[in-house]
Order: sequence, then structure tokens, then C-alpha cells
Amino acid sequence: MKHLFIFQKDSLLLTSRNQIPTGEWTQWLTEEPKETVALPVSTDGTANAAAEVEQTQGTVNDAKWISLRESFYVLPAADFRMAAKAHELLHWHRASRFCGFCGNPTEWSTEISKRCPKCHREIWANVQPAMIVAITRNNGEELLLVQSKNFKRDYLGLVAGFVETGENLEDCVEREIKEETGLTVKNLKYFASQSWPFPNVLMVGFTAEYAGGELTLQRSELNKGGWFRRDNLPAIPGKVSLARKLIDHWLEQKKTTHE
Ligand SMILES: [Zn+2]
Repeated sequence: MKHLFIFQKDSLLLTSRNQIPTGEWTQWLTEEPKETVALPVSTDGTANAAAEVEQTQGTVNDAKWISLRESFYVLPAADFRMAAKAHELLHWHRASRFCGFCGNPTEWSTEISKRCPKCHREIWANVQPAMIVAITRNNGEELLLVQSKNFKRDYLGLVAGFVETGENLEDCVEREIKEETGLTVKNLKYFASQSWPFPNVLMVGFTAEYAGGELTLQRSELNKGGWFRRDNLPAIPGKVSLARKLIDHWLEQKKTTHE
């Protein structure tokens, strides 16, 4: 049975039982989508397809819209990952309709690539690397939390930013920390990475220790920020994010040292 990943901007269509719709498009939508995209087959052999529909599109069978972020909390992990991939591929599909070299319309080649029929270039769905870092000081007693102007709600998270041309990840971490906070760090360590489909980011997580400098927030990027102890944490990002995994890791460390 084909799984259908149907989006309206950043919202995903789920059945009334919080499942990915299957079968035919019109079992869930009042009209066929104008354009559909074939997705890679799931590891269990399930075929998948995606479509982005207009905000005026009606739904049937009690299907409902849920933000892709929120769907993390209700979908099985494999379904969320496929939904995230579908969202990224739909974004890339929109952004790659024409060959960047010769301007000719592109054609799908594989489920994750296109080709230009005129100049024969292969064009692969790309990811944008970014880094996020948990900076601690005073022997790990305090964690630096900041609020980016991009945050949609009133919580504090971690210093993060996109890798620039010519940078490696370590350069990026040090530059972003310097720009956003005025600080220098030491003992930079890789933590984990995460595919972040808003719209096509590979987020690479690090931990680091404060080395020097006065905390000076970059007001063009950040609303607020400061050092926090475990007993006075503000609202923090949801469990869908790598930021939260880094913060939870820091919270756990304390527990371990006290046991
Ligand atoms: Zn071309």
C-alpha cells in the first residue's frame, strides 16, 4: 500500500488516527494534487509518494493537518524520518526545476536526483550543513543558552549557525560562537548529528568548554541569553531537536556525577 506524504507548507496530513495516509490521493484530499513526487521505497518495501498542496485544498475522511515538528511526537520514528525526507525533497524539487548551468528545464533521474537533458549534468538533492554547540563553564555547572530571533516560541536554545563556503565544521563553530557571544572555547567535541528538514539542513552537534571572553550577545541575531544552572533552566527546545538532545545530555551528566 502506497504511503502518501501530503504537505501544506510545513504541515503534514495525517489520518484521524495519527497515521500517514495510504492508498489513493482522493481518499484524503477533495482533489488530486497538481503534482506528485515519487519517494524512495521504505526499508519494509513500502512505496511512498509526496505532494505539496494549496492552502485551499480540502480534506476528507477526517484527515487533519499537523505541523511536521509536532508529528515527531505522534508518528513512529521511521514514518517521521520519511516525512522529513519527503519535505526536504519537495523543497528541493521546487528549487531545482531548471538547470543552474544552462537554464533548461530539468528531469527526474533517480528518486533523489535530476538531470539536465540539454547539458547532461546530474543534479543531486543537497543538504546544507550547520552546527550547534553546547558551551559549558565552571566544570560543567553552567550552560550557555541563547534565544535566536528565528525561534518561533519564547524558549532558549544553543548557539547555532550555517557553515560558510571554505569553512570546516570546527571553523564554523568557533566563528559562530565569537560572532554571537564574543566568547572563545576549548575542548570542542563532536556529539551527534541530525537531519533537520526545515528545509534541508544537516545539523552537526558539538560540546565545548568556555575558554575566555565577556558574554556579548549579537543583537542582530539574538534576543537574549546567559549562563544557566541546572536548577534554574528556562523553557528549552522540544525533544524533536538536536539542541534538546545536547541539553538533556548536559542535564544527565550532573545526575551521573552525583550518584
Ligand atoms: Zn543544463
